[in-house]
This record gives sequence, C-alpha cells and structure tokens, in this order.
Amino acid sequence: MFYSGRNVTILGAGRSGLATALYLAKRGAQVTISELSTLAFDKDPVLADLKTRGVKFETGAHSEETIAGADLIVTSPGIKPDAEVMVRARKHNKEVVSDIEIAYREAKVPIIAITGTNGKSTTCALISHILTEAGRKAPACGNIGVPILAELEKNPDFLVVEVSSYQITYSPTFAPQVSIWLNMTPDHLDWHGGMNGYIEAKRQLFANQKPGQFAVLNIDDPIVADTKTQATVFPFSVSSAISTDGAYLVGDKLAYRLKGAEQLLCRFGELKIIGQHNVENVLSAISACALVGMPVKDIEKHVKSFTALEHRLEYVADIEGVAYYNDSKATNTASAIKALEAFGDEKVVLIAGGRDKGTDLGEFVDSIKKHVSNVILIGEAKDRFEEALKAGGFTKCHKVDSMEAAVELGGRLRQGAVLLSPACASFDMFKDYEDRGRVFKDIVRTRLKIKTPSS
Ligand code: ADP
Repeated sequence: MFYSGRNVTILGAGRSGLATALYLAKRGAQVTISELSTLAFDKDPVLADLKTRGVKFETGAHSEETIAGADLIVTSPGIKPDAEVMVRARKHNKEVVSDIEIAYREAKVPIIAITGTNGKSTTCALISHILTEAGRKAPACGNIGVPILAELEKNPDFLVVEVSSYQITYSPTFAPQVSIWLNMTPDHLDWHGGMNGYIEAKRQLFANQKPGQFAVLNIDDPIVADTKTQATVFPFSVSSAISTDGAYLVGDKLAYRLKGAEQLLCRFGELKIIGQHNVENVLSAISACALVGMPVKDIEKHVKSFTALEHRLEYVADIEGVAYYNDSKATNTASAIKALEAFGDEKVVLIAGGRDKGTDLGEFVDSIKKHVSNVILIGEAKDRFEEALKAGGFTKCHKVDSMEAAVELGGRLRQGAVLLSPACASFDMFKDYEDRGRVFKDIVRTRLKIKTPSS
C-alpha cells in the first residue's frame, strides 16, 4: 500500500527498470519510465503490458516535469551521480534509489549480498546453486542480470543478490542479513571519480549492516580487512589459518568454523571449478550458506556439483591437442591475472586487448612473463599493451585485427592452451563481454568442425 498513488519516475528502460515498473504499478503507483533511447512498443510485449497497466513512457529526454513531479526516483545504476539528471533531482530534493533498495525495503526474507571487484557472479551463482539444490527457493539476482523485484514477487526463501558498487551508491539503507566482500582492486574509477570513491561505495554496504547480521570478509585483502561494520565479522582466508569462526583451508581441504565447531569439507581439487581465485569464491559461498543455517553435508554435496559460469574460465574445446578457454568476463587486469594463475606452471597463449581501462599494467606484465608463451593483442588497447610488454622485457607479442585472426594464430603457434582473458572492456569490437565470448566460442567450434568433419 505504501506505493499506492505515489508518483514514481524510473530512469532507464533496461530489464531491471521494466521489472521495477511492473512491481510498483501492481502496487498502485503512478509510474513513468523515462528513457533516452527510443523504445519498440510494437515489438516488445513487456512494454505493451506495462502500457495497459497505466505506466507512462517518455523517451529522448528526462523532462523537468518527470523529475520535479516525482515522489520517488528509481534509477538505472548506469547513470552516474554527477549526470545532469541527477544534479536536477538533487536540486529538487528528490529521493533517488536503486531497485535493490526498493526490494530491500519490501522483502521479508533474508538477503545474501555479494560484492567485490571480481568473482561476484560466480559466488552469487554458487550460493544460489547450493541453496536451491538443498531445496530452498534462492534465486541469483541483481547485477548478475536477473531483476531482483521480479524474483521477490515469486516468494523466495532467500534472495541471493550480486551488487555492484554503482547499485550500492543508490541503496542508502540496504543492509543484508549476510554481505560478502570478495576483494578490491582498481576498476570503474571513472564512474566513482577515483579509487577512494569506489572503496567508499563498497564500505557503505557494510556500514549499513546491523548487529545480528553477518559481514563475510576476505581478510587477505587489506582494504576489505579494514571494513567497519556493526555486523558480526565472519572472516575468510585462502592463505592463513583462522582461529575464530570463519572459513579457511586445511591443506587443500575446504573448512569453516561456526560457533566454535570446525567443519572439514572435501578438497578444492574435487570441485568442477578451477583456479586459486575460485578458492576465494568457494570459501565465501560456503560461509554464507553455513551462516543461513545450511547443514555441512548439504553444502559439501552441492558445492561439488557446481560448474563454471559461461565466459569465466569456460573450457570450449580441444583442437588437435590445443585446448581453448573462454574467460571473456575478465574485463580488468586483476581478473585476467587470476585466470593466468589458474594454469599454474602450464604456459598459455593469451588473447588480450579491447577497450583499454587505462589502469597500470605492471602486475599484468609480470604475470604474463610467468604464465604466457605468446600474447595475441586485439582491439583499441593493443598498442599500449604492446609497449608495456616490451618495456617489461616480453617480446612474444602479436597484433591482429580480428578475433578470427587471433584464434587462428593461437592454434597455429601450438605453444600452450589458447586463453581469451582480455583484461579490457569489449565495447570497441563487440556489443558486450558476452558477445565477445560467444564470437570466440563460435570461431573455435567452427574450426573444430572443419578439423574433425565426421564428428
Ligand atoms: P564479477 O561478477 O565480479 O565480474 P565473475 O564471477 O563474473 O566476477 O568473474 C569474472 C572474472 O574474474 C573471471 O573470469 C575470473 O577471471 C576473475 N575472477 C573470478 N573470481 C575472482 C576472484 N575471487 N578474484 C579475482 N578474480 C576473480
């Protein structure tokens, strides 16, 4: 009833904007969706349905009337706080929130939130997998691409929410029952106006938490370890033993201690996901599941059956003894470094490049020198990457103009598995990282068919 008769303006007609409109219109709000691009009402049944429910649309601009007349504004996380429309909203003293904040205010079920620079989607999907396989209704939603309000309507037992720093910025009171902070490395600096803004955005989530809630923190990361919260801290570490409650490794066995009782699970090597970075993700996921009351036997059983998400160190195929991996989701150097480390002593041929994020390349170059036989560079970043590699003493660099050429050269070199882990955004050559990963996989699979025509 709270929204009944209230004027709500939604900025952005993306998937979550449309789900928010539906949720609020059903609860009696007067909803206006304001979107800068044009919308295809005749082709999209969701838009048509919203229209029949009385939702109004404005396209091409965020008009003064729509901003000034709103009781509440729900924004797409893509709109920066210093955008012109936000300046106007502040001038009119409007409350601007994300769909996550609305869901939090409405939800009566526990929320598990996952944030960090890298590993959010994997961890979110893993927690959802464990809880779902154990018979709970626990959808993965939020930044993972599933609108949270659409899931809230389906009466879940838990909401497992991936939250980006952008979404936290617009979620001023969001305080989940369990919040995970995986790690913190430079990314999105443009949006937040620098690293401090990025860190502060993440910190807000934990500052909002209350006694009785849990903050699952990676204490191997100095920024994360320094988190201030009133929640009970449940630390996890891949490198040190933890003597209090928390999650850690005993040899290569996954372990956690809750209320003083240690639980030993299977070895990490028994899981279907690889790479040291995934140990971090798994330790945080088992922590969250234990903290919401899952028995250790269920956690162990279902963590073992989880497989890698598409575009995250995803095995594609083997062609004439060369394995191909798609890690298109590695859109920054930190995540590409993790992918390289996952191959241990085995050298790979790395395909990297795309839209350059302009971050320092020092550690990336060091990791390449350790783990890579040849680098194949694509996209706008190729010259800066080549310069950095050469300056670091790595000379086996090849610049090509297309993904086809990169895959072809990778196969021809025969100097290790071919790994697409670009360390860059994709928008210079592709629609998004998913498009980039699928193009890569299609090329690999087409080559597989040509080389093994009878299969
Ligand atoms: P996010 O949703 O935060 O972008 P994903 O789970 O989609 O994270 O993983 C993106 C990429 O980041 C993966 O392809 C992998 O290379 C890398 N990655 C995953 N987990 C971690 C982690 N815990 N630490 C560092 N890098 C990671």
